[in-house]
Amino acid sequence: MALDMKFFEEMEQRIPHGKVRTRFAPSPTGYMHVGNLRTALYTYLIAKHQDGTFILRIEDTDQGRLVEGAVDVIYKTMAECGLFHDEGPDVGGPVGPYIQTERRGLYGKYAELLIEKGGAYRCFCNKDDQEETEVAEGVAIHKYDGRCSRLSAEEIQAKLDAGLPYVVRQKIPREGTTTFSDAIFGDITVPNEDLDDQVLIKSDGLPTYNFANVIDDHLMGITHVVRGSEYLSSAPKYNLLYQSFGWEVPTYIHCSPVMRDAQHKMSKRHGDPSYEDLIAQGYLTDAVVNYVALLGWSPGGEQEIFTMDELVKAFDLKGVSKSPAVFDIVKLRWMNAEYIKAMAPEAFYAVAEPFLKQAITNPDVDLKAIAALLQPRCEVLTDIPERVDFFDAVPEYDNELYTHKKMKTNPENSLTSLQTMLPALEALQTWDNDSLYACLIALCEQLGVKNGLLLWPLRVAVSGKASTPGGATELCALLGKEESLKRIRAAIEKLS
Ligand code: GLU
Repeated sequence: MALDMKFFEEMEQRIPHGKVRTRFAPSPTGYMHVGNLRTALYTYLIAKHQDGTFILRIEDTDQGRLVEGAVDVIYKTMAECGLFHDEGPDVGGPVGPYIQTERRGLYGKYAELLIEKGGAYRCFCNKDDQEETEVAEGVAIHKYDGRCSRLSAEEIQAKLDAGLPYVVRQKIPREGTTTFSDAIFGDITVPNEDLDDQVLIKSDGLPTYNFANVIDDHLMGITHVVRGSEYLSSAPKYNLLYQSFGWEVPTYIHCSPVMRDAQHKMSKRHGDPSYEDLIAQGYLTDAVVNYVALLGWSPGGEQEIFTMDELVKAFDLKGVSKSPAVFDIVKLRWMNAEYIKAMAPEAFYAVAEPFLKQAITNPDVDLKAIAALLQPRCEVLTDIPERVDFFDAVPEYDNELYTHKKMKTNPENSLTSLQTMLPALEALQTWDNDSLYACLIALCEQLGVKNGLLLWPLRVAVSGKASTPGGATELCALLGKEESLKRIRAAIEKLS
């Protein structure tokens, strides 16, 4: 079958040149790993730092792993994170289609071209029968023995005429070495005998990832390929493919894995959170994106809080680390709290409201005022319900809560304190934080006792908690006079 060279020329002519072009190429799995999000982010930052083009390509050739609705999850996550693509399945572009299954016709043609150029061959063997087993460091490696690469043209034609199914394999030179460059790891050289004649086109005609990524990166004019370091061992084979085609190799940027701890990679299967999980756990998208940027990239200064624009300006491959990064949820909590503190009060109320309403059903409670108290003290939104549930009703609590070493309080003197303050509070005309505070401080002075002796028991009496968003008088002001006095009387009873 003669190759249609005109077709290949036209494809070449479509490729844009002269600008940085990067792509995020997720497989639609239904969620976004933290490591994937980082890849997407770095890919975006490399493009935008140099005023380049950021492309989204969907890698869905592994039909067995397809998940319903998964592509929408990708669009949604990227938009939420501010990773806006310039080209992609939904927005189009000059080198589409941007979904691999919609490009399926292409790969076979390029496989033919590669066979013609001597970089690949048809293999008619059954899946597992013609493998040689090598033992390296005690591990058996199954490698195809390459027998179909030695078939004569007549033998091949006979098999094709007989309608035998085949795959297309890459023809790896048996001798010599292959060197590839990575922007993070430098030059890496491997002996060719370590590389296998990997399958490029499966018997169903669909390409493997290993073939499709090279064809697509070339035809889409990709200049920088960012991917996980699990692909490092495949990079020499990709280089050989580029060489066989006579194409320019893109800059590789392999990122080290994101770890749960020193030994283990983060893994959703083992319960580590994906991006969606983190959002459901009450983290803010901006904080997660900021934190993920610093997982394995160091801006080289003291600054840790970055807007997306600042990341675009600051991002530099020199700061990307070779060593794996450990995902530190404590650090993320801290960063999330910083983002919460920096929000406009209305914006915080908007995100906090659903969590407040989970715990507070009493319509008389001023949720906005509670949000204002919470904002400087809140690390994660999902902590909110448990911290404010007492506004509806005082939870069951142990009288030992009244014991506070520093305040020098215990259940006995707390009873006295509450009994003492009750008439003063009953008589109070204006029920707001300032008046409540002034009233109680005056009472302390009159009694010649420290403030804590009255304020701690009051806080416990109205909240039933050791830690509250706001002090005793702030809580009373929000609860209102009637409810606060009711709670103080109930506490006196409980302590008596
Ligand atoms: N589809 C591959 C993945 O999701 C992408 C790898 C690459 O960026 O080349 O792992």
